[in-house]
Amino acid sequence: MTPDAILALYRWVAADCFRCGRARRHATRLDVISTPSGHIYELHACGHCVLELEEERQIHAERCGAVYRPGTLGA
Ligand SMILES: [Zn+2]
Repeated sequence: MTPDAILALYRWVAADCFRCGRARRHATRLDVISTPSGHIYELHACGHCVLELEEERQIHAERCGAVYRPGTLGA
């Protein structure tokens, strides 16, 4: 699967990337953290980081003999 095809599997918004710190990038929401005090933080990752995380997932799946399914970060 090409990088563009992997990126097309996600929804993109303008947000800061939690992983590399780049601000106001096209980013996809990976998770939401709620604190005991009631604050809610959304974690977004930029396209560059999404591709790195997908590559790590693929390597991990191959190592474990599992099926790699791109587009499921944060799912
Ligand atoms: Zn990033």
